[in-house]
Amino acid sequence: MGKVALITGATRGIGKQIALTLSQEGYDIVINYRTENDDLKNTKKEIEKNGVKCFAVQGDVSNFEECERFVKEIIDEYGKIDILVNNAGITKDMLLARMKKEDFEQVINVNLVGTFNVTKNVINYMMKARSGRIINISSVVGVSGNAGQTNYSASKAGIIGFTKSLAKEVGSRGILVNAVAPGFIDTQMTDVLKDDIKDEIAKSIPLKRMGNPKDVANVVKFLVSDDSAYITGQVINVDGGMLM
Ligand code: NAP
Repeated sequence: MGKVALITGATRGIGKQIALTLSQEGYDIVINYRTENDDLKNTKKEIEKNGVKCFAVQGDVSNFEECERFVKEIIDEYGKIDILVNNAGITKDMLLARMKKEDFEQVINVNLVGTFNVTKNVINYMMKARSGRIINISSVVGVSGNAGQTNYSASKAGIIGFTKSLAKEVGSRGILVNAVAPGFIDTQMTDVLKDDIKDEIAKSIPLKRMGNPKDVANVVKFLVSDDSAYITGQVINVDGGMLM
């Protein structure tokens, strides 16, 4: 059997591209989705075109019991999970003075607690296998901060601390844990911004453009490959030089 990669929130954007890129490398893909829609059907079809299996599991990553259930579904199907990419994430941007408590909690619950919920349910299987790769999708704003994103930046900074701590805990078991911190990537998440604001941000980036999901997926491809066998506990920025 080939290697099995679970990617959370994989029906569109960066998660979808990671799933497609890994399927091109021959990994069997498990996509986690929250909402059943055409994005899910199309993603599944595109992955299967690459000649690998695609198994889809429904579940809200912010709900521990749902994560427990869908990880069991994957183990029943494949008996293992070789690669976990914690990608599911949301934003609810607002200056702190006007931010509702619910908006803070929801972002932390999906982005940070969600990363815990899925990893906690997967880690024992990887520990038994004495191998595994975990990639957590953070963000450059988890390092730099960003006005209007106290909730999101805190969640993404939390993911960095989680990544480094877990890398220290499980390195001796052959499990490598790294984070990828994208900058400004062209997906539905950033589509809410007006074009002139997007142009202004792009101009401020040394490489003078927004990133695309492939820019991020290619780094994940490297981090799950044998070529990165001596890299753990790192945060790799994929940001066109935005943060340096
Ligand atoms: P996106 O296009 O909005 O896609 C997010 C995906 O996550 C969707 O498939 C969404 O599914 C899923 N999701 C959201 N909440 C979920 C939950 N509770 N349980 C399961 N799935 C859930 O966003 P993106 O730009 O691809 O972002 C992917 C990751 O990259 C996120 O962690 C984001 O924070 C990070 N990132 C993005 C950028 C950027 O510039 N785009 C920069 C830095 C970091 P639904 O359809 O159900 O909502």
